[in-house]
Amino acid sequence: MPAALLIPLYLFLALLPLGLAWAQGLPPRHLMDELASGAGLVAMAMILAEFFLLGRFRSITRRAGSDVVMRAHQLLARAALVLVVLHPVLYVSPMVPPPVWDVTAQGALNYGWTGLWPGIAALLLLGGLVAMAIGRDICGLRYEVWRLLHGLGAVLVAGFGVLHALRAGRYSADPVLGWVWLALLTLALAALAWVYVLAPLRRWRRPWRVAAIRPAATRTWTVTLDPAFDGGLDYRAGQFAWVNIGRGVFSLDENPFSVSSAPASGQEVEFIIKELGDFTGTIGQIRPGTRAWLEAPHGHLTHSDHPDAPGIALIAGGVGIAPLIGILREMEATSDTRPCVLLYGNRTEAQIVARDELDRIGARAGTEIVHVLSEPPEDWTGATGLIDADLLRARFADPSRHDWLYVLCGPPPMMRAVEDALLALSIPSRRILSEQFVYD
Ligand SMILES: Cc1cc2nc3c(=O)[nH]c(=O)nc-3n(C[C@H](O)[C@H](O)[C@H](O)COP(=O)(O)OP(=O)(O)OC[C@H]3O[C@@H](n4cnc5c(N)ncnc54)[C@H](O)[C@@H]3O)c2cc1C
Repeated sequence: MPAALLIPLYLFLALLPLGLAWAQGLPPRHLMDELASGAGLVAMAMILAEFFLLGRFRSITRRAGSDVVMRAHQLLARAALVLVVLHPVLYVSPMVPPPVWDVTAQGALNYGWTGLWPGIAALLLLGGLVAMAIGRDICGLRYEVWRLLHGLGAVLVAGFGVLHALRAGRYSADPVLGWVWLALLTLALAALAWVYVLAPLRRWRRPWRVAAIRPAATRTWTVTLDPAFDGGLDYRAGQFAWVNIGRGVFSLDENPFSVSSAPASGQEVEFIIKELGDFTGTIGQIRPGTRAWLEAPHGHLTHSDHPDAPGIALIAGGVGIAPLIGILREMEATSDTRPCVLLYGNRTEAQIVARDELDRIGARAGTEIVHVLSEPPEDWTGATGLIDADLLRARFADPSRHDWLYVLCGPPPMMRAVEDALLALSIPSRRILSEQFVYD
């Protein structure tokens, strides 16, 4: 399925209940009442569609990119919240005349408590979920605890919301729409069950083992995993995995890390991991032989999907080198002779990962490695400062490089600045791939 179909598919799902309601041909009510119903129907469908935007479905992330999917998840949840709030507000709007006695019950609202309370519960819970997601870093919860609460809360919102629609909804009283709600709810819960129960069960037969952990640079480690089963990981250079080291297969303690090895180099997979928090801060203490689980591959940061690009530009900031070195290694292992430039920004020299290997790769004809340091030592002869518009213009302004593939990974402010600078150089956006290491 092409990526361009994802948006029509989403719109179909989000608008299906509204379309079915419209097709019922019920007598029209006041415009505000109809808008209120419409807001409720679309919001509920959007909430159920959120379960497919968890960033765990390869058929989606492979096409759109995980960070785009997660961003869509966040923004659409906020949009759904706005519609959910509008839903009751529009019903009680002062512009709506007081309800008339209507024996058919088709023109009047059912304000019965059995129908109302699940709706109120869904609204409050959804507001709480969105607030907790926006303020995740200040609410002080461990990431894994937050994720568990987020998942449980989402199930409750979906359940209460559908119950409210079935009990109180004017249009949802129709059996066809009623069944559609139940089908969508079942699919949403099945999506969650797939991620947290069925996929881990499948992984059980594919355990991995920590083969080695080595320091790679300041507060950065290289972790190598071996398959402890017959086979390996079928991935493309630049993709990432959800990694669980030393926990049970169903554990929520897993973190996304880009694979830094090249698929063409064998079954071992390698990660470059920077110390940041709870798990990554203790990575150096993991013992070789520890059991690990991989949920992979995810992501679209791969050069191999773009065989028609005449050259490859890799632009990395800090640990963003992880997927990009995987691409460099794969290009070398597969004798990909396309010209390639790596711009690699760090603060200090000690933060440069795999320097000797990069120097060796950079010595190949057609490959250029440019280290950029913002705090260089006195004897530094390379580029200094940040990877900025001037540096990009010097390397990529030539029109022969406009159709290259540009792969970006690094801190969000750097990626925004680089993306803007590339677009200003008339690089087409379809030739720019980027992935953020944070979902905020
Ligand atoms: C697609 C992707 C690829 C990544 N690749 C790399 C890589 O190759 N090397 C590397 O060093 N880092 C990478 N990261 C970042 C890495 O996932 C986080 O630094 C790591 O999960 C932090 O875990 P922690 O338990 O040490 O930190 P915590 O103390 O738990 O959290 C610190 C912050 O890290 C983020 N974080 C924590 N857990 C997760 C999680 N399960 N999912 C998403 N974000 C989380 C949150 O923003 C959190 O606020 C990648 C992130 C993403 C999304």
